[in-house]
Amino acid sequence: MIIEIAENAGFCYGVMRAIDIANRALEKHKTLYSFGPIIHNPQVVEEYEKKGLRVVESIDEVDGPVLIRSHGVAPEIYEKLREKGVEIIDATCPFVKEAQRYAKQLCDEGYKVVIFGDKDHPEVKAHLGYTNYTAIAINSEEEAKKVKATRVGVVCQTTQSVERFGRVIEILAKKIRELKVFNTICDATEKRQKAARELAKRSDLMIVIGGKNSANTRKLYEICKETAKNAYHIETEKEIDPEWFKGVERVGITAGASTPSYIIERIYNFIKELK
Ligand code: SF4
Repeated sequence: MIIEIAENAGFCYGVMRAIDIANRALEKHKTLYSFGPIIHNPQVVEEYEKKGLRVVESIDEVDGPVLIRSHGVAPEIYEKLREKGVEIIDATCPFVKEAQRYAKQLCDEGYKVVIFGDKDHPEVKAHLGYTNYTAIAINSEEEAKKVKATRVGVVCQTTQSVERFGRVIEILAKKIRELKVFNTICDATEKRQKAARELAKRSDLMIVIGGKNSANTRKLYEICKETAKNAYHIETEKEIDPEWFKGVERVGITAGASTPSYIIERIYNFIKELK
């Protein structure tokens, strides 16, 4: 059985940067607060909880320095934290910041802002905040068909698939008189998706590693499912069923942006031992 790990699998620049910022802050502070998990990976979150990173859901729970994770937050959160007088340690990914800036710019220029992404994802919730909640979030071609406005400005959740974004823009371009589009899908996502697709083409089975709550990992899984003969999305080796590998000659492994390399290695070695 040949086992191959896709290029660009695992931690992206923004996640690596956020982890680095969190590590440095935890050297200085015994307790650090974070709105939601630092990254969408339960194993990493557990590890950081032990180091003093407390995950909270509301500002009321905060009474010390706050880490803004790579997904970013809406502008009113910064205001409230400043009012509260707590230190803000901002680990928002620069690519997410760029998308936030474009969302605000389009809103200021009077466009009806459309955010292509999952409206329940924290990154998209933050983008909505930069348009004063006047934007709409859409996540399908069907929803794109329902957009009604003459001037529309579009930004995209950084982890969306390029193909789906392209299809949505095609629909909008056919019906909107003035359409301004910022492709804010980040390089890391594009490269990871491309490498996963290429590997899936030559694999009988794809193993996609990452948090079940990680949007970019779920997207990778979708791509692999469409392309390889078979695909599974797992968080740890405990979920692996040896039966999956019966008669399989080529296995491909990829991992989402929030999957640390030690988990990828552990799973690679586990599969290798199955031979
Ligand atoms: S996937 Fe891209 S935008 Fe998101 S955190 Fe990573 S580098 Fe930043």
